[in-house]
Amino acid sequence: MLLSAGCVFSACQEDTRAALRGNSMQRCKKCIMPSNYPSISFNEKGICNFCTAQNSPEAAKAAKEALYNDFQHTIANARGQGREYDCLISLSGGKDSAYLAYLLSKEYKLKVLAFTITTGFESAVAQNNIRRTIEKLDIDHYIFTPHESFFIKLYSYLFRHINACGSVATVCFICGPILYGFSLKTAVELDIPLVFHGFGPGQPPHTHHFYEMSLPHLMGDGSATGSQIYDIFKDGIFDERDRALLWNYEIYKHKKLPRVLMPLHVLEYHEDAIIKKVQDLGLIAKGKAHPLVTNCLLNWPMVYLHAKKLGFNPYVEFFSEMIRAGQAHRAYWLWMDRILGFLVKIGIFRLQGVRPVLKRLGLNEKEILARHWQ
Ligand SMILES: [Zn+2]
Repeated sequence: MLLSAGCVFSACQEDTRAALRGNSMQRCKKCIMPSNYPSISFNEKGICNFCTAQNSPEAAKAAKEALYNDFQHTIANARGQGREYDCLISLSGGKDSAYLAYLLSKEYKLKVLAFTITTGFESAVAQNNIRRTIEKLDIDHYIFTPHESFFIKLYSYLFRHINACGSVATVCFICGPILYGFSLKTAVELDIPLVFHGFGPGQPPHTHHFYEMSLPHLMGDGSATGSQIYDIFKDGIFDERDRALLWNYEIYKHKKLPRVLMPLHVLEYHEDAIIKKVQDLGLIAKGKAHPLVTNCLLNWPMVYLHAKKLGFNPYVEFFSEMIRAGQAHRAYWLWMDRILGFLVKIGIFRLQGVRPVLKRLGLNEKEILARHWQ
């Protein structure tokens, strides 16, 4: 099974691989996109094609304002309708979803159900952050834990089938929609009209979703990665019990689907301010808000294997998007990106985080790196 649809790094082809491993490392002067990134080019001022392809600031501002107004309108209509819950929010243990849970429950005064899926690959810091956030906000929390072999089989399959676009584009772009499906099912079953995901800038890629997941996507018509998921689950390692967990629109087609929104993309966002806010509110302890400590443990092998095989950090495009939008500091993320590259090079990543995860998945680093990523 090849995983290729939904790939945002479409120029990631075999003939670019040699260049990816090259030593020349020019960086865009506006963001931090490196010269070894597929399909990158720089103008005479040293600005990359990702930056120059941006919409005009005026057009982007107007589009964002319209979506912001929709968000305010939607919240006002949802509040006080006599439902048990006005909205469901996915809580991951990171700063962004904690901040959004605060906004929705305290600032916008909605009746919030927090929702978490246990994959078995959460960091201890993320789990503590979730507990703190729930306690401080005093909101209901629903935790769904699928049978353990579900995620072990899924991740093991995905790491054995990494595509030409790399580890994140393979693992996260399939796992993400499966997780969205769990929250969607819960919202439909509990008659909750709104589902929120606290994604920060660039998550998921705007080519997939920006402010709202479209109705065709929720109906599972194959847009984005929908149909690929069902194809993957035809593989012999999965059984009926696994397939029954997936979102299946046919079961719910007579019910009203909730709207699924990602409002942090249209609200005021600055990384430093959000970290300060969640720490001041006590939702997350000081020093426990950084993505490096809150991210899913699969990030260790994903970043390591991707950097080893393709020569660049799989998140560099996401970092760059935040910098471009003025939501994060270029100097800081340039430094972070270099540190990550250094850690991969000296092998710290492998010892600390890669080996334990691959061992649990029954995988071998050498075999994954030797395989043709296509
Ligand atoms: Zn750039």
